[in-house]
Amino acid sequence: MLLESWVAGRWRTPADEGVPLVHAVTGEEVARLSSAPVPVADALAFARGTGGPALRALTFHERAGILKSLALHLTERKEELYELSYATGSTLEDSLIDVDGGFGTLLAYASRGRRELPAGNVFVDGPLEQLGRTGSFVGRHVLTPLQGAALQVNAYNFPVWGMLEKLAPAFLAGVPSIVKPAPQTAYVAELCVRQIEESGLLPDGALQLLSGDVDGLLDGLTGQDLLSFTGSAATARTLRAHPSVVAASVRFNAEQDSLNACVLGPDAVPGSPEFDLFVREVVREMTSKAGQKCTAIRRAFVPRAHVQDVAGALRAKLDAVVVGDPRDEATRMGALVTTQQRDAVRAAVQQLGGSLVTTDRTPHGPGAFMSPVLVHADPDSPAPHDVEAFGPVSTLMAYDDVGHVVDLLARGQGSLVASVISSDLDFVRETVLGAAPHHGRILVLDPSTAKESTGHGSPLPHLVHGGPGRAGGGEELGGLRAVLHHMQRTAVQGSPGVLAAVTGVYTRGAARQETAEHPFRKTMSELQVGDSVTTKARQVTREDVDHFAEFTGDTFYAHTDEQAAAANPLFGGIVAHGYLVLSLAAGLFVDPAPGPVLANTGLDRLRFTKPVKPGDTIRAVLTCQSKAPRTPEQGEVRWDVQVLDQDDALVASYELLTMVRA
Ligand code: NAP
Repeated sequence: MLLESWVAGRWRTPADEGVPLVHAVTGEEVARLSSAPVPVADALAFARGTGGPALRALTFHERAGILKSLALHLTERKEELYELSYATGSTLEDSLIDVDGGFGTLLAYASRGRRELPAGNVFVDGPLEQLGRTGSFVGRHVLTPLQGAALQVNAYNFPVWGMLEKLAPAFLAGVPSIVKPAPQTAYVAELCVRQIEESGLLPDGALQLLSGDVDGLLDGLTGQDLLSFTGSAATARTLRAHPSVVAASVRFNAEQDSLNACVLGPDAVPGSPEFDLFVREVVREMTSKAGQKCTAIRRAFVPRAHVQDVAGALRAKLDAVVVGDPRDEATRMGALVTTQQRDAVRAAVQQLGGSLVTTDRTPHGPGAFMSPVLVHADPDSPAPHDVEAFGPVSTLMAYDDVGHVVDLLARGQGSLVASVISSDLDFVRETVLGAAPHHGRILVLDPSTAKESTGHGSPLPHLVHGGPGRAGGGEELGGLRAVLHHMQRTAVQGSPGVLAAVTGVYTRGAARQETAEHPFRKTMSELQVGDSVTTKARQVTREDVDHFAEFTGDTFYAHTDEQAAAANPLFGGIVAHGYLVLSLAAGLFVDPAPGPVLANTGLDRLRFTKPVKPGDTIRAVLTCQSKAPRTPEQGEVRWDVQVLDQDDALVASYELLTMVRA
């Protein structure tokens, strides 16, 4: 029953008896948590000495593959996690958010890693910057993984998702994770880590777990480590100001508490679909996870004329919510995590002031139950914009006009999310743009999006999760942004050849290999970055231009009308279509017979840099810029294409994408 730490490849049993962690419903002991300090020094040493090197030896794609396998492995064991999560007061629906949501995040990162990260383990950020006149001195940004550990301090409300949303991007970046779960639900996090460890999928030291007291947790952090925190604003303040964090400029990301709002638009009169959507969203956010969600709606703003109607509709729904044992099928809302948390929420309700639209009718007992409480308050009273009642509690407030509601939204001091429910586009635009500087995410809901909407309260791995000010100022999740957060961006300056060697990406001006065999005849494994072909030249004739115009229907005057084209200030006469130039270039560089090249999948960064006129002669230089395996059978090859005229001037420049057999 005593929770263990998973450190340096073995489970460590603390020497003390620990303190009890109790069942949210029965009050019985579920597990014990050590009061002794966690073995963080050993964990940091193992992460830096073993976990980091093992992760950095893998490519982004290999790490992505492991994340996917891990998600599938955990999915087979999810029933065990659901079962244990009942002890935290969670219903099955709550566990779907935590457990399945966590696995979904692993899968989302696995897929992003395969599609959006390069095959190697250096991330090249942005285009080449020409730093001198001739192009012999250039610069480019590269990102490499930090060489320390990502220390992840988590909140109690999502023991699985909260852990995996941090593990996934750190792992993909190549940085080992050390997880410090919150005590109240540490037993669920421990079970999940045991399941991960049993899978044998992660390299040694890629994930460690600390169960115990936080004393000294941050003392050993250095500038190569990261600290990622989820929890209250008060705890974040302590961590942010810790001497080690300050002295070493430890990269710190905080996801803090938040007074998220939902706004009903002025168009949404009672009986309208928007009105019903608003009621549904507020009720769901108040009751899901018994309101213990950082993103839950704490402030509900409605036009002054509709306050009574909204209060009545919410009261009817909230009074019908069945609160009880999360295992009961009839139960809509389970318990809070502990009776202490329930009592803290009740105390916070007192601080909110105002009048109660619904009251807490749950009898006192061993279970940490509380029924949903809706408060109606004066929007100009400070408490609803300041007090986070982290339970099934929300405050209803009236607003007068769009300026007023934008001001009220900002009074939350920085929030994770707001939602606006309206079909009035002028109101939506003013509210969204007015509220955006104060929010990390804004959901606009109307009948056209209601069916597919992921809801106010769901952070998504593709979108920013975080917010300014009180919400922590962090931006975790959010796709690649979170991966790159674990890496150092370095500007490398040198010759094009140096940049190509460092990044593994062909850079114009670096050496190319013109091989006897056409590069289109090479498979992914045979092809080398820098393999190149220079085509023979072809003259572009007026007949070509006329034929292309007639054949495609693109009879724009610059290609067909000599007088009008002569008056064009850019052309001064008939010019070839840009697409004709592209087509002719393809005709020059394509190697026609069936071979390893399977398809042309697109073009990036296309620029027509100089008009081509009838009589000009063009040729193309095609060079393998980078390769990215996609499946065991095939991969994507990015080609640098330069189309040059008889004077060696660049007339078109682009990156061509092809699928090539492995
Ligand atoms: P909390 O009390 O701030 O605790 C969060 C974590 O910090 C726990 O693991 C806690 O462990 C640890 N901690 C506290 N003091 C520490 C210290 N001095 N050094 C190192 N670690 C320390 O928050 P909570 O009650 O678990 O969670 C509820 C709060 O989290 C709410 O305010 C909610 O809004 C917020 N939250 C935010 C998000 C988000 O994404 N923005 C998500 C979920 C929750 P110990 O107790 O063992 O010290």
